[in-house]
Amino acid sequence: MAEKHDSLSVSRRDFMAGAVAAAALGGAASAPGSPAKNLQTTGARMIELPPLPYGESDLAPHISQETISFHYGKHHKAYVDNTNRMVAGSELAAASLEDIVKATAGKPDKKGLFNNSAQVWNHTFYWKSLSPKGGGQPTGKLLSMVQSDFGDFAKLKDELAKAAATHFGSGWAWLVLEAGKLRVEQTPNAETPLTNPAKKPLLTIDVWEHAYYIDYRNRRPDYVTAVLDKLINWEFAAQNLG
Ligand code: MN
Repeated sequence: MAEKHDSLSVSRRDFMAGAVAAAALGGAASAPGSPAKNLQTTGARMIELPPLPYGESDLAPHISQETISFHYGKHHKAYVDNTNRMVAGSELAAASLEDIVKATAGKPDKKGLFNNSAQVWNHTFYWKSLSPKGGGQPTGKLLSMVQSDFGDFAKLKDELAKAAATHFGSGWAWLVLEAGKLRVEQTPNAETPLTNPAKKPLLTIDVWEHAYYIDYRNRRPDYVTAVLDKLINWEFAAQNLG
């Protein structure tokens, strides 16, 4: 009987928590004087770890299942969990991930939240920048722009490889669109072109050590070569270009 009673209590508590959250959400909309208080008690929006666009072992042998398991299941997930923990009860509790990143960029007192939320966004973008059927070269409009902005595709590939391989310390290499032109750039740590309204990110390569150390040890250039030759998703870049 005791067990049954306990499980009923838990169910009841879950039900009540849901009911309170629903009531508070309604209250947030109808009581403009105290939305922050209501949000604080409900955690109005949870940032979620998006599913990988492929299986954990689908990028092997270029990136192993073990790397993806840690990189996605531990690192990316921790950034999601930290973001949710840090945002709870704040004025950003109901904000979208993009809005959290943009609202905290460059604010010294929000550095922790920026680092974690930007890393959530960057990693989601990185997984989409890779594909088990990647590599090759872009086509159509993207290829035409590569040719006019870089000369040819080999030049762009060289620039991306150089940006990724030579970036000092942790960070990211990006292909972005800025003022109608394609550009290759690097960002340190969690920094992201998302925070610059003049830039549209098209694809990225993670060059934090956790992205390659299990598979390539200190040979970052070999990881970058494998990504560019076998995994990089030009279709995703073309979609972002629009
Ligand atoms: Mn990473």
